[in-house]
Amino acid sequence: MARRVLVLGAGIIGLSSAWHALRRGFQVTVVDRGDSPRDGCSFGNAGMVVPSHFIPLAAPGVVWQGLKWMWNPESPFYIRPRLSPSLLAWGWRFWRASSPRRVEAAAPLLRDLNFASRDLYEQWAADADSGPGDFGLERNGLLMLCRTGAGFEEEARFAERANGLGVPARVLDAGAARTMEPGLELDIEGAVFFPKDAHLDPNRLMAGLESRCRAMGAEFHFRTEVTGFGRDGVRLGSVFTSGGELEADQVVLAAGSWSPLVARNLGLGLPMQAGKGYSLTLEKPRKRLSLCSILTEARVAVTPMGGRLRVGGTMELSGLNESVAQSRVRGIVRSFCGYYPDFTESDFSSIEPWRGLRPCTPDGLPYLGRSRKVPNLVVATGHAMMGLSLGPVTGKIAGELLDNAPPSIDIRLLDPQRYG
Ligand SMILES: Cc1cc2nc3c(=O)[nH]c(=O)nc-3n(C[C@H](O)[C@H](O)[C@H](O)COP(=O)(O)OP(=O)(O)OC[C@H]3O[C@@H](n4cnc5c(N)ncnc54)[C@H](O)[C@@H]3O)c2cc1C
Repeated sequence: MARRVLVLGAGIIGLSSAWHALRRGFQVTVVDRGDSPRDGCSFGNAGMVVPSHFIPLAAPGVVWQGLKWMWNPESPFYIRPRLSPSLLAWGWRFWRASSPRRVEAAAPLLRDLNFASRDLYEQWAADADSGPGDFGLERNGLLMLCRTGAGFEEEARFAERANGLGVPARVLDAGAARTMEPGLELDIEGAVFFPKDAHLDPNRLMAGLESRCRAMGAEFHFRTEVTGFGRDGVRLGSVFTSGGELEADQVVLAAGSWSPLVARNLGLGLPMQAGKGYSLTLEKPRKRLSLCSILTEARVAVTPMGGRLRVGGTMELSGLNESVAQSRVRGIVRSFCGYYPDFTESDFSSIEPWRGLRPCTPDGLPYLGRSRKVPNLVVATGHAMMGLSLGPVTGKIAGELLDNAPPSIDIRLLDPQRYG
């Protein structure tokens, strides 16, 4: 069987795919237009591994909540108004996908993918010979912190649903939640604890994965932009890049938010919007946290990473632009200091915000599968808020697809051609 695989994109999805392809004996080349894996969305994210996130982004109530938030410059959600046919079509599909029936169908799949990915992270952490080294995996759960009574009630209902689906969740009153983070003030009404969630340091993970893939024989071409494809009938024969033409027997498309631009060169439509988010990392936080948390009403993620502390959030649909909206960054910091009053806004005054573009599909489910139009292309993208969490299992399934083996999890809902 032809064994040369070209992976387009060196984010968590590309690197995980490369690692699994290498383990299966493929000869792997990774191409990325950035200087290093630090350039994509996979570097400055909140590092959470989240079996608790079995509800896709497109869910009932999200559209109305989003519309309310639109008018507040510090809110966690914004769509830059523009007459864009692709944005309108995406919005229409998102609205259609936000039905209870679609969400119920997606939940068991997202649960299974997240649990499988968590197991793979555990295997990587234990695999000193071929894993990515120490990437700070902490398997001590996640707190969903609620500052309002209404938020707490909603989260408690969600906990019931999670338990019903086999994702353990414990409802904690404010006192019980505070005992989970002793020595820290929490201004909350209550919390839900998800013991099976975990967190890690994405900076270390990405660096470790790249060097492990190199050690296993992968070739990397950074500062190399994919600009087109050479066809061999319906198949891909080669990939044109800013650094010349590269030949491959099979290609994995893992270019994150830019995947639709790359796919367009192949005549493939992958509806997607970039969902910009920001994070700020305190190198020496005034208090140490042990658990990661999500501030539910503010949609802010808080993650301890070794001695550091990362706070991130917002979902801005403003196209493929990487500018920083300071008002939204302020909103993240204010919300964090509201839930964690030990911290003050001035703690963040000299910190440069990081920004990343989450690849968001209209139904909140990734695109993962072999293309029917281009048979030697595997599509692996569109993980929105869960790319870090779902990276290893996506890579594993991409490896299976490259080998023409049946995927270990039923991925029919993730068909990359579900929108035509
Ligand atoms: C603030 C924030 C917090 C987050 N927190 C979490 C979290 O806690 N848990 C979680 O699971 N997820 C989280 N996410 C989401 C997660 O970061 C993304 O889903 C994930 O990083 C997407 O990975 P990717 O490999 O698909 O894309 P990317 O990491 O963006 O990688 C794509 C790569 O493709 C390259 N590329 C693009 N076009 C081309 C081209 N033409 N030629 C060559 N190369 C190209 C880019 O340079 C880039 O390196 C968060 C995101 C944000 C913004």
